[in-house]
Amino acid sequence: MGNAIGVDIGGGSIKVSLFDKKGDELRSQISPTPEHLDNQSFLKNLKDTIRPLIPDAIGIGVGSPGPLDNERGVMISSANMQGLKNLPIKEELKKEFSLPVWYENDANCAALGEAYFGSYKNTESQLIVTLGTGVGGGFVNRGILYSGYLGNGIEIGHTTSVIGGALCGCGVKGCVESYFSTRGFLNRYAEKSNQTLGNAEEFFQLVRKKDSLALEILHFGTLALAHAVRGAIHLLNPEAVVFVGGITKSYDLYGKLLESEIRTTIFPVLNDRLKIGAGGSLSGALGAASLVFSKEKV
Ligand SMILES: [Zn+2]
Repeated sequence: MGNAIGVDIGGGSIKVSLFDKKGDELRSQISPTPEHLDNQSFLKNLKDTIRPLIPDAIGIGVGSPGPLDNERGVMISSANMQGLKNLPIKEELKKEFSLPVWYENDANCAALGEAYFGSYKNTESQLIVTLGTGVGGGFVNRGILYSGYLGNGIEIGHTTSVIGGALCGCGVKGCVESYFSTRGFLNRYAEKSNQTLGNAEEFFQLVRKKDSLALEILHFGTLALAHAVRGAIHLLNPEAVVFVGGITKSYDLYGKLLESEIRTTIFPVLNDRLKIGAGGSLSGALGAASLVFSKEKV
């Protein structure tokens, strides 16, 4: 008993797993999410995927990309699933399964999962920075997630690195995400070379081959990220800063510069206590299940 269901709604699939309190996965289910789904068929798909795991669960945690409203439990829209609009996830699942349901954006879920089960779980507070298509963030203090109004806080990716700089997906120029993220690397590379790369892997392969443009873009992006994190450290003063997400697979290419730039520019007094590093690769579903364990603690 005391097991939690975690639901990870991503572009392409719904992954659902049942976890015990130690974070061990007991069972899991996955189903593809075609791009052109309307609300009703998506909800049916979601419920059918969750249903087999219900008998042993005490609650359901759901994570998805934003924008969302975590209080009403509504997915406002999805960049990857264009047919979905104002999807009442929390209400529908509560009604269907008569279990408590929590819903947060995936960066917040990742933060909670990392704080509870990751390599820095024994620290008092953690700032988790997700590095992937974009840059996300989450802050957990003494086991409690700080998610801001409607769950849209700690958007570290949209803090400004260069005033009037490169255009970001959010419509504003100069966000750190425009310089250090899959989207940022590919856009900056295309801008200066007229060459379109397919994904982050291709970009990092160029870095490994010492392509001078890729090296320059990664160097500047790393400094931009370091200074965004520096700002966040001075605001939040966390005990640990943990980098997670797809791009951390190549942490060996930029981690050293990232950490040294952060450490040499923050208030020296913070350095002794601060831990910085790449986190484990915990699943999005475990992050979502952590919402259930978290509410139990409070
Ligand atoms: Zn932005």
